Amino acid sequence: MADAAQFASPASYYRDSVAVRLDRACPPQRGHQRVDVCVVGGGITGCSAALHLAERGYSVALLEAHEIGFGASGRSGGQILPGLGTDIATVEQALGRERARQVWEMSREAVRLTAELIERHAIPCDLAWGYLHAAVKPRHVRELRQFQERMARDYGYEALAWLEGEALRERVVTDAYPGALFDSEGGHLHPLNYTLGLARAAQQAGVAIHEHSPALDVRRGQPATVVTERGEITADFVVVGANAYLGRLLPELDGHIMRAANYIVATEPLGEARASQVLPYNDAISDANFVLDYYRLSADKRLIYGGEVSYDGREPRGLQRRMDAKIARLFPLLEGVRIDYRWGGDVAITLNRAPDFGRLGANVYYAQGYSGHGMALAGLAGKLLAEAIAGQSERFDLFAAMPHRRFPGGERLRTPLLVLATTFYKLRDRL
Ligand SMILES: Cc1cc2nc3c(=O)[nH]c(=O)nc-3n(C[C@H](O)[C@H](O)[C@H](O)COP(=O)(O)OP(=O)(O)OC[C@H]3O[C@@H](n4cnc5c(N)ncnc54)[C@H](O)[C@@H]3O)c2cc1C
Repeated sequence: MADAAQFASPASYYRDSVAVRLDRACPPQRGHQRVDVCVVGGGITGCSAALHLAERGYSVALLEAHEIGFGASGRSGGQILPGLGTDIATVEQALGRERARQVWEMSREAVRLTAELIERHAIPCDLAWGYLHAAVKPRHVRELRQFQERMARDYGYEALAWLEGEALRERVVTDAYPGALFDSEGGHLHPLNYTLGLARAAQQAGVAIHEHSPALDVRRGQPATVVTERGEITADFVVVGANAYLGRLLPELDGHIMRAANYIVATEPLGEARASQVLPYNDAISDANFVLDYYRLSADKRLIYGGEVSYDGREPRGLQRRMDAKIARLFPLLEGVRIDYRWGGDVAITLNRAPDFGRLGANVYYAQGYSGHGMALAGLAGKLLAEAIAGQSERFDLFAAMPHRRFPGGERLRTPLLVLATTFYKLRDRL
């Protein structure tokens, strides 16, 4: 693995608390290689696909432009949740009730798969259970309660419990929320250690990982050829899990996703006593705003608090001040708490916020656009990609059937349009 000096990702709490060492070095790709499958991207999608493919007996090379976990997977809030980045009504509308049910069940499978992979590969990533989806205003209370009812009635999902008043304050010690849905199937983990753990498991299954090896071009054909700076890989199949960092590698996908940066701060360790006066049950929380805030405790009892977006790649002005104020408003006890880390990462958002899976031609597969909801789903995507390449594509195709419209406006207009749309939703969040 790259030593610290070589890290391209920003300094973060995660990088300073890495607990997984890869089994062997991941030298840049050179010369000509021939494999069954070339995977592009060393996040959860790519590492999970590589692992599941190698377990099925395929020879696999994985190219990562920087280091494993460089992208969203190594920087994320670490919340693992059932469901998609979009609401279930959108899935129903697109696929019908029956297939929406299958998608929902697979999103639950994604969470279980995460836990299974952690256990099977002994990944030290601080997995913890319990998630609260918190209402910030009366409109959210109605929406969340309707969601709970609908999920129980139409989907048989009984893991949700409505909490308010003292019952809610028992789990999250703040007066900020009029109510929250507790989901016992959601939870959180250390995302970089999880991603590194998947990469280590992939190596143990025989995958050749090449860091600092951007794929520059995917030449189509059977086999296809993936070109790197100093060589090329010929492969029967190519899997691309580059998500928000895709750039122009697959020009056909232009407009499928919008890249947006999201930011997180990590406080100093709060100590057991203070931490339990804030989140006594160690739950993960996100609020119900469209541009949402989310937080949880780390294993060493820091508050990991995320929120705030930017679309031009620059950190929003006054970010730290705003994060400080949000934390103090929620938990007056934490006013003045020291912020030890602050970092950002890019999410890939689709227009309808459902993930975008598909294939280009017969042998180039991709999965992307989890819209801020990929921690668990990306692991399942990797498994489904492996199934599809092995010829069992029904489950992959179910996701691929989700219709996606392109962001309008082309490269130059897309960002201003999204900023406009988000400003609208931010205003709505205030109502
Ligand atoms: C700040 C933040 C907070 C988040 N919080 C949550 C959360 O709490 N819960 C949740 O479910 N989701 C969350 N997400 C989203 C989640 O992290 C992502 O959906 C998920 O990690 C996507 O994984 P991935 O492997 O598809 O992409 P990534 O992890 O982004 O990996 C893509 C990789 O591809 C590499 N790459 C790109 N192009 C090339 C190329 N040409 N050649 C080689 N390599 C290439 C990149 O370097 C990168 O490492 C968050 C995201 C961010 C940024």
